[in-house]
Amino acid sequence: MHELAITESIVDAVAERLPDARITCVCLEIGALSGVVPDSVRFCFDLVTEGTNLEGARLEITEVPGRCHCGVCGADFEPDGPITLCPCGSIEIKVLSGQELKIASVQCLTGGTTPPHKPAEVA
Ligand SMILES: [Zn+2]
Repeated sequence: MHELAITESIVDAVAERLPDARITCVCLEIGALSGVVPDSVRFCFDLVTEGTNLEGARLEITEVPGRCHCGVCGADFEPDGPITLCPCGSIEIKVLSGQELKIASVQCLTGGTTPPHKPAEVA
């Protein structure tokens, strides 16, 4: 599963940069053309963070819409799928945005108030 490896690398990157912090929230930006399915990342996140300092953290995903520019007719357009094709039929497409996959921000608790266990909240 593609998203599992991606989620692992995100969690590794955060844990590596903030090894002593208790992470409470991770915000990601996922482009519509990145090929990454946000729901799959959400699903994998809980699995991957288990036993790390990201365990129990909230995951917020901002989906960035795709923008493309056609080299033939000059139109900017938003592709409605992973196949980028200009409405004029051209495949000479330059992708302007929507391929990103990045960590936008991370919130964490530093200091000594970290509870040893997650609060026992059962939804
Ligand atoms: Zn075009």
